[in-house]
Amino acid sequence: MKPDSSRVIADLKELRALTSDEQGGAQRVAWGPVWRKTRDWFQQKLKTELGLGTERDGAGNLWATIPGAKKDSLVIGSHLDSVPSGGWLDGCLGVIAGLEVLRRVKARGTPPVTVRLVDWADEEGARFGRSLAGSAASAGTLDAKKELAHLVDRAGVRLPDAMAENGVPLEGMATAAAYFKRLSPKAYLELHIEQGPVLESMKKPTAVVLGTMGVERHSLRFLGQAAHSGAAPIHLRKDAFLAAAEFALACRAISVKYSGTSPRTRVVATCGVVKVEPNFVTAVPGSTEISIDLRALDGRVLKKMLADAKNASVRAAKKHLVKVEWSPLLHITPRPFDETLMGFVRESIKAVRKGPVPEIPSGPLHDASEMAGVVPTAMVFAMSSPGISHTRIEDTPLPALDVSIRAFLLAVDRTFEHLA
Ligand SMILES: [Zn+2]
Repeated sequence: MKPDSSRVIADLKELRALTSDEQGGAQRVAWGPVWRKTRDWFQQKLKTELGLGTERDGAGNLWATIPGAKKDSLVIGSHLDSVPSGGWLDGCLGVIAGLEVLRRVKARGTPPVTVRLVDWADEEGARFGRSLAGSAASAGTLDAKKELAHLVDRAGVRLPDAMAENGVPLEGMATAAAYFKRLSPKAYLELHIEQGPVLESMKKPTAVVLGTMGVERHSLRFLGQAAHSGAAPIHLRKDAFLAAAEFALACRAISVKYSGTSPRTRVVATCGVVKVEPNFVTAVPGSTEISIDLRALDGRVLKKMLADAKNASVRAAKKHLVKVEWSPLLHITPRPFDETLMGFVRESIKAVRKGPVPEIPSGPLHDASEMAGVVPTAMVFAMSSPGISHTRIEDTPLPALDVSIRAFLLAVDRTFEHLA
């Protein structure tokens, strides 16, 4: 059965019309009314086209299943939720492509292994700040009481109340991991847009994803001495901002040093927050807070980057006669994907398009990052053009979308054969 993208693209357009407005973009924020409408629409499709019901686990993840000859299951997933005013493809591309997988499976009769399509709940964390909640619950890496119970949105609504409104009690989230284990998952596949500019810059429609990068995020404070900008001679100053600025430039040099030339080894370093005190034009900055966010696919490289950044901060502090303190904000382990499954993705991309197959790491996290910790996992990326996401102008040109969807469907077929 030749893979075909037309129904997926038609469904995506239908969903866009149903859940976005021209000015604002997609409004499928998890636990809200448009998200519920989206899931109703999705469940209706499963029912009318395939006669399939759905089941919800304790974390609110929505599952559709076609039983196979074996209980072992191939899991296909992504998320229907979006950020406020988001794009038409982030997340729903993977779920709707999964719907096409179910159509193909159904048309061929009983599959060799059980196939399960999951719409993960609250991947974006857009309203309450905790992303990957549903998939993390299934992977057993989420402590709902500790991480979710206290979260409140901008309107003052508590997350446990928003979940309860959807019939998902917070206390039930802990059961999602056992539910997932019972499914006997043997492989997880996800199709997602790249959300960045790399494939567009390479003029490639689709890619093998090598894994999701690990993250080291810290906040630093350089402490010097505030002084009068006219009275303090340069050589006697303790300028905290200059130290922070040198640190930021050193971090860029670190990212260049470890990136190499191939997209496979690309790493990133970002100083996104700078707060200078006392923050007026005639004051030498006495204190400066600066953030660092380091990402790499290779855990050893990430460690070296962090060590280099620490040394750079000490050097910059010494040079400007100030002190530096580090406080950790976030640590995420790199999640390299499964070599065998990545091989299937590579072959599938080759089958639909001539030429070398790009292989790139993902800077953003995905539900697949959580899955990679508990089951062999791989992802297919579709090029983003323009190379941005979480905005209504997020897009993938139709020819690239077509190639990516067909490659994904073939990768699913190859994984079926492998698991059979
Ligand atoms: Zn996404």
